[in-house]
Amino acid sequence: MLTIIPDKKEFVLEVHHRLSEVYGSQIKYFHDLDPLSELVSSLLSHRTKNRDSGLAFTNLKNLFGSWENVRDAPTDTVQAAIKPCTWPEQKAPRLQQVLSLIPQHNGVLSLDFLTDMDVTAARKWLEELPGVGPKTSAAVMSFSSLRAKALPVDSHHFRVAVRLGIINAKIGEAKANRVLENLLPPEFTAQEVYDNHQVMMRHGQKVCFHFKPACTDCVLLDVCPTGENTLSQQSILL
Ligand code: SF4
Repeated sequence: MLTIIPDKKEFVLEVHHRLSEVYGSQIKYFHDLDPLSELVSSLLSHRTKNRDSGLAFTNLKNLFGSWENVRDAPTDTVQAAIKPCTWPEQKAPRLQQVLSLIPQHNGVLSLDFLTDMDVTAARKWLEELPGVGPKTSAAVMSFSSLRAKALPVDSHHFRVAVRLGIINAKIGEAKANRVLENLLPPEFTAQEVYDNHQVMMRHGQKVCFHFKPACTDCVLLDVCPTGENTLSQQSILL
C-alpha cells in the first residue's frame, strides 16, 4: 500500500536516506579536474556515453596538449579528435567558441577565478556561456576541484524524481536542477549534495530502468506512486 509523505522536502530526504543505505554515502568524487577541464568534459558528455566522451577528452589532451591549442586549432582537427562523441560537428565549434569567450573575464584561459565567487554567482557566469545550462554549471561546480555545493541532474536522476512524483516531467531537465536542489536540506554539505546526485543516478541505472523498472526490487516501492500503480496494473492482468 502506498505511503504518502505530504511534505515534499521530507519526502526527498526520506528517499535520500533510503537510497544512501543502498548505494552509500561520502561517495568518492569520480573526477578531480580543474574547473575548465571539467567544463570541457561536461560539454563533450552531452547525450554521450561516459566511455566515449572520456575518449574524446583524452584525444584532445593528447593531440593538442593545452586548451589554448584546442581553441586555436583548425576546427576540423578538433572535430576529428572528438569523433567518439555524438554530434562532433556541433561540439567542436561550440567548444572553441567557449574557449575563446572565457578569457574575456580576466585575460586568462582558466576558470580558477570561480573559486573566489559564491556558487550562485559562479553558476550565473557559467550559464552565460553558449551551450552551458544548469546541469553543466552544476557539474563544473560540483565535480571539479572546486567541490562546491551544486546538484547536477542527469536523465536517470530526472526519471526517478518524476516517477516518485517529486517533479512533473513537463518542467524539463534544465529547470529540474534548481527545483530538486531547492528541495534538499539547506544544511546539506557539498558532499551530501553530491551523494544525492550519485544515489539518484545509480538508482536510475540499476533499478528504476527506463524500460521495465524493477519495482519489486526497489526500496522506494511503498512510497512510489508509479511503482504501486505499475504493480497493481500487473496484478489486474494476471
Ligand atoms: S518503485 Fe519502480 S518506478 Fe518507483 S522508483 Fe522504484 S523502480 Fe522506479
